[in-house]
Amino acid sequence: MKKVVKFECDICSELYTLAESAIKCEKRHRLTEKLIPEFIEKIKIKYPDIDIQWEYYKRENQYDISHNYIYEDIKFSSYVGELIKEMFFNNRIFNVCFAYDYNKYKF
Ligand SMILES: [Zn+2]
Repeated sequence: MKKVVKFECDICSELYTLAESAIKCEKRHRLTEKLIPEFIEKIKIKYPDIDIQWEYYKRENQYDISHNYIYEDIKFSSYVGELIKEMFFNNRIFNVCFAYDYNKYKF
């Protein structure tokens, strides 16, 4: 029986057959964690009163960015949508979600 050596991403614990792939995965996490604060800053320039927090959920390997801005406002959604596309999707980062947090900000 051939023994398969697995390489683990230190951040999400995903297993890879190539060490290179595990390193790539870690690099992507680092890039994501660098981009999220930049993303938040860009929103705050336009919407200074907004509160935005983010957390990483290892089990889902997902970055949840939550905010307290109740958007009736199409401008907000399209501004944020463009940023998400430009900063995350264009970098092939798809495990980021941005949503109003009902639990955190309920009245
Ligand atoms: Zn990973």
